[in-house]
Amino acid sequence: MTVVTRFAPSPTGRLHVGNIRTALHNWLLARRHGGAFLLRIDDTDAARSLEEHVVAIRADLAWLGLHPDAEERQSARFGIYQAAFERLIAAGRVYRCYETQGELDLRRKVLLSRGLPPIYDRTALALTEADHAARAAAGEAPHWRFLLDHDTPITWTDGIRGAQHFDPRQMSDPVVRRADGSWLYMLPSVIDDIAMGVTDVLRGEDHVSNTATQVQMFTALGAAVPRFAHAALLTGSEGKLSKRLGALGMAEFREAGVEPEALIALLARLGTADPVDATIDADGLAAAFDLSRFGRAPARFDDAELDRVNAGVIHRLPFARVANRLPDGMDETAWLAIRPNLARVAEAADWWQVIKGPVAAPECDAETRLFLNQAAAVAATLDWAADPWGALTTALKEASGRKGKALFLPLRQALTGMDHGPDMKALLPLIGRDEALARLRC
Ligand code: GLU
Repeated sequence: MTVVTRFAPSPTGRLHVGNIRTALHNWLLARRHGGAFLLRIDDTDAARSLEEHVVAIRADLAWLGLHPDAEERQSARFGIYQAAFERLIAAGRVYRCYETQGELDLRRKVLLSRGLPPIYDRTALALTEADHAARAAAGEAPHWRFLLDHDTPITWTDGIRGAQHFDPRQMSDPVVRRADGSWLYMLPSVIDDIAMGVTDVLRGEDHVSNTATQVQMFTALGAAVPRFAHAALLTGSEGKLSKRLGALGMAEFREAGVEPEALIALLARLGTADPVDATIDADGLAAAFDLSRFGRAPARFDDAELDRVNAGVIHRLPFARVANRLPDGMDETAWLAIRPNLARVAEAADWWQVIKGPVAAPECDAETRLFLNQAAAVAATLDWAADPWGALTTALKEASGRKGKALFLPLRQALTGMDHGPDMKALLPLIGRDEALARLRC
């Protein structure tokens, strides 16, 4: 059986790292098994779903390189939900209710005050057809609940959490459809998972209790239950679920200079005991993706770790991936020379300025000035097509008796205006003969 996974965001807001992690897990699993990764837009809630969010979701996934094999929209599938719903009515697995929110709240309070679990008492199940007719005549429309099968314990083997067991008697029959005919999340999701042949549902552990209900919905609709796995949630550096983390969208990461490959590398491993490598090989991550590596403890999303991975990723990015973000004229040789020194791609502009000049001449004493003039004289005689830095420093070591820092630092300072930076061997040919001579004759 081929693997089919799906990412099912509700377009009621922007994607944050938690959503993206879920999308990534589903993409990795499908990729690992040569299966399909679907994007399902859960837009049954017409009032809260916005087209701008749908557009942003697609753009964020594209930026991350998580390209779906197909896209579906729940708002286009109401006919399919209606047909499945009628089957559930015929099978007696959904029933009509009329309680107001106020009534339900009151009943909950009473149960809780008696120390009882606040489970819906199924009062509406006792209504007769005459009762329903009377309600209808009074202009009252029902909402619908799914009738849990109390006699069948709910179990599944979770890909991350292991054996799961729920007692349906301890659960309320969930409302699946509102009085205005609109759908709640729970049932359309199951109908879609069946229709789309979804084999694996990977999502956050905030959905575990939904899964308990949905397992019975699959069965009620005559379908096999897919494999489920629920990842522990992400926490912020401060060790608790952070508002800041929830507010971080892909736009913020992009603006902060975070590369999509860095987010992918980090989020693919966060929550496992495996090291986070600064890889740009998403297929390699997919090949190694293994749900059994995930633990049940919350996974800590750490900005410092993201920065470390981001730098490592940048040090591997090929020229073609960044060419359109580099300063005009900066070629592959220059990129490869400065890449190891970048924490953000945007910093390439600073090093391009160092290469092209002008650079600030350092303050230097008479002795250093003499040394630099000596360097300029040697540099003028070199073959600049070969390795001018190697030749220059070898000749100067001999001629001046200097070595180590005393040899290299004044040269670097004069040639770049900085104390540190990319390997001079790579940088000096980029600065070029004439510019280098001018900088040494300070
Ligand atoms: N739209 C649901 C959500 O965003 C989907 C949950 C699921 O994966 O089934 O929470």
